[in-house]
Amino acid sequence: MNSRRSFVRRSLAGIVSLSAAPWLKASNPQRPVYPLVVSTWQNKAANQAAIETLQQGGRALDAVEQGVRVVEADPKDRSVGYGGRPDRDGKVTLDASIMDEHGNCGSVCFLQNIMHPVSVARKVMEETPHVMLAGQGAEAFALAQGFESKDLLTKASEREWKAWKKNANYEPTINIENHDTIGMLAIDTFGNLSGACTTSGLAYKFSGRVGDSPIIGSGLYVDNEAGAAVATGLGEAVVKTCGSFLVVELMRQGWSPTAACREAIKRIVSKQPGHKKFQVGFLALNTAGQVGAYSLQNGFMYTRHLQDKSDIQPSKYFL
Ligand code: ASP
Repeated sequence: MNSRRSFVRRSLAGIVSLSAAPWLKASNPQRPVYPLVVSTWQNKAANQAAIETLQQGGRALDAVEQGVRVVEADPKDRSVGYGGRPDRDGKVTLDASIMDEHGNCGSVCFLQNIMHPVSVARKVMEETPHVMLAGQGAEAFALAQGFESKDLLTKASEREWKAWKKNANYEPTINIENHDTIGMLAIDTFGNLSGACTTSGLAYKFSGRVGDSPIIGSGLYVDNEAGAAVATGLGEAVVKTCGSFLVVELMRQGWSPTAACREAIKRIVSKQPGHKKFQVGFLALNTAGQVGAYSLQNGFMYTRHLQDKSDIQPSKYFL
């Protein structure tokens, strides 16, 4: 998603900021009655798919699944699904999770050859007694559920990986540029929250590496009584602090979404001395429909979509 970052560098000044206030004028301020979708980074097409699902009466759960599938299928997006950057052995391995308003959740990690890990995660949630399936087991489950097998390494990603191999000494590079996640949170017309996230993880990682995105409470957490949160950035840093769970628990205690995300970032800063070298961003939504985000470094943004209005908001940041 370097393109997203260059977008923000190029045009931050030109972003038209829609007023936040009208988004919050619900008849019941505790439970907005209109559909609302937010997602990490710049994802208008994904949010559009999600909002249409909600406008047709779909659940927030349906919306977040349909929304992130748009990015999973996009070969130009190098951090998610088809076209995602591979591990250091040239294999595209995917992590995803989904969580609904009842606290049901499902996830997959180290999944290969399946274009839509978020939908496999939903099947894990709905069709198995488990929460997470990994690797070959997850792939076999997906195939048994009717998902098609597909090589997810595009020519462009393969070229980049081969170029990386020449100079990288087989060591993954930890930086703020070569990884991202689409995380999406939504409130449906019933006032219920759900969330999903999906990623190909850190580029050129060790084979078998799993990030935060499929770990419930780290990359994603939803509690219909408190709020929902999703993370992007260096998964190892998020896992060490149970980031999304922390954000939701702070919102339960009355913190605003932005303040809760900031506190989770501060936790990373205070506990992880290497924090200047990586990026983490949190995006949160509370039950009143308030949205907030906070990141470690400059450059994080989120896309917000209410009914027919969509805007891209830069996140506040720590460093
Ligand atoms: N959190 C993801 C991971 O570590 C990648 C990212 O969002 O940048 O796998």
